[in-house]
Amino acid sequence: MVKADAYGCGLAAVAPALARAGCRTVFVAHLSEGIAARKLLPEAAIYVLNGLPPGAGAAFAGHALRPVLGDREELAEWAAVSDGRLPAALHVDTGMNRLGLSVAQALELAGDPVIGQAGIDLVMSHLVSAECPADPINVRQAADFARLRAAFPSARASLANSSGTWLAGDTRYDLLRPGYALFGGNPEPGRPNPMRPVVRLEATILQIRHVEAGETCGYNARWTAPGPRRLATLSLGYADGYPRAASGRGRALVGGVPCPILGLISMDLIILDVTDAPAARRGGTATLIGDRLDIDTVGQTAGTIGYEILTGLGSRYVRNYVE
Ligand SMILES: *Cc1c(COP(=O)(O)O)cnc(C)c1O
Repeated sequence: MVKADAYGCGLAAVAPALARAGCRTVFVAHLSEGIAARKLLPEAAIYVLNGLPPGAGAAFAGHALRPVLGDREELAEWAAVSDGRLPAALHVDTGMNRLGLSVAQALELAGDPVIGQAGIDLVMSHLVSAECPADPINVRQAADFARLRAAFPSARASLANSSGTWLAGDTRYDLLRPGYALFGGNPEPGRPNPMRPVVRLEATILQIRHVEAGETCGYNARWTAPGPRRLATLSLGYADGYPRAASGRGRALVGGVPCPILGLISMDLIILDVTDAPAARRGGTATLIGDRLDIDTVGQTAGTIGYEILTGLGSRYVRNYVE
């Protein structure tokens, strides 16, 4: 799964790395992402999850992209372009009520010539709560998908996202669609992460300052020094995708020491309390993601999920890729 600029990690670097690792099929959300992926992956099968916009058939065909078709109109429109020669996927909605044919509609269409004319070579659905293994909806969706799979025997089948890959039971089929786990997120919340971290985020310390008891910092003076404190101002803010909701709650590591984020996070700056971090100095760095600060923790601290932290990583960073 390489939608959203490969989860914020940078498609241009990620796509060739995945190809070198043996990945032959990728998924994106939009036609524009598919076109960008095609330039990087001349050989890959590229499926576009958000389907076929009206009139976009020629663009899909021209870039050899495979739309993920989710209603009868889309199927008919693609069938006219494909005539059985250009492949596509069929999206069946087993519980999200978001995109895709209903299970009943899909079963009804199984023997219809339009399926062959639309070149359906993959049947897929998406799990509602795969990260909650005890949720009974997993079992219901798996059962519905097993029936679908049987009704489309010549197509490959795909059900599991990252968390679905770790679920007990029959969810794995022919093709997995991992995104978050691929980029280091924990597919099993509350359990040790079986994946290694991918992203590390560091920011430069611009200044070291000293404040006395009673002084405040940042917009609206949300933090008041309880005593003399040493502060570091970082060259990073919410415009870089570091969530403002982590104001007064988040932490960064300086020389391995956890340092609290003070007051409100600004657009371009964050203030840290580095009183206990003697390594803090102008020109040094603070780690916002990495070491003990994994993306799941950062997301939780900001009242969101690690997915949003990853995909929100801004465009002002210098990105260094390590193979
Ligand atoms: C984004 C997405 C995935 C990947 O989900 P992760 O939880 O990131 O692994 C898989 N399938 C569909 C349909 C998606 O939209």
